[in-house]
Amino acid sequence: MRSGEDAADSASEDGRREGAVDASRARVLDETAMRLALDQAQNALLVGEVPVGAVVVRDTPAGRQVVATGYNRPITDHDPTAHAELVALRHAAHLLGNYRLPECELIVTLEPCAMCAMALLHARVKRVVYGARDPKTGAAGSVIDVFGEPRLNHHTRVQGGVLAAASAELLQRFFATRRDMARMRRAAARPADAGVAPDANVAIPTGEATELPPKA
Ligand SMILES: [Zn+2]
Repeated sequence: MRSGEDAADSASEDGRREGAVDASRARVLDETAMRLALDQAQNALLVGEVPVGAVVVRDTPAGRQVVATGYNRPITDHDPTAHAELVALRHAAHLLGNYRLPECELIVTLEPCAMCAMALLHARVKRVVYGARDPKTGAAGSVIDVFGEPRLNHHTRVQGGVLAAASAELLQRFFATRRDMARMRRAAARPADAGVAPDANVAIPTGEATELPPKA
């Protein structure tokens, strides 16, 4: 027969194991949702928008349900608020018939900006998961921390860094291609300036979404 101490050790060991299983399951769910968000980011890329994608999910007795998806489309829609998060959030709120989504989580490939972060707080979204950090406009701690602001009365949980490399790579490829195209245009306009120095800076300049020239 096990002593009381042995039984307690065994119970706490079981608890730790269950905790680890839960954490591992949560990570798989986050990564699965992030892959859907990355697909959405690809859609943005295909139409010449900064590649950021988002999905809204919720857990139901039948399992996890994807409620809505969205990708960055401010240029396409002539709408400075059409960030991936807000496109997905509007769609989800419309489908669920409620302006508050306390049972929903939003997964987005890039750290939300202040506008999106506030909208997510207004919607009472339960949790936000993002991929890459945005050193230029990130409002989950990179530039400011809207989610961590104690004076705001609702606190959405935030998890960053999920499949961050894949999200960042998509953005870096987009901006590298855009720089190459700008260089080619300059070279075509001034054939004498053939030797333009390559720009090796590949920071993630996501705030540039609204700076893209209108499409011809
Ligand atoms: Zn935003």
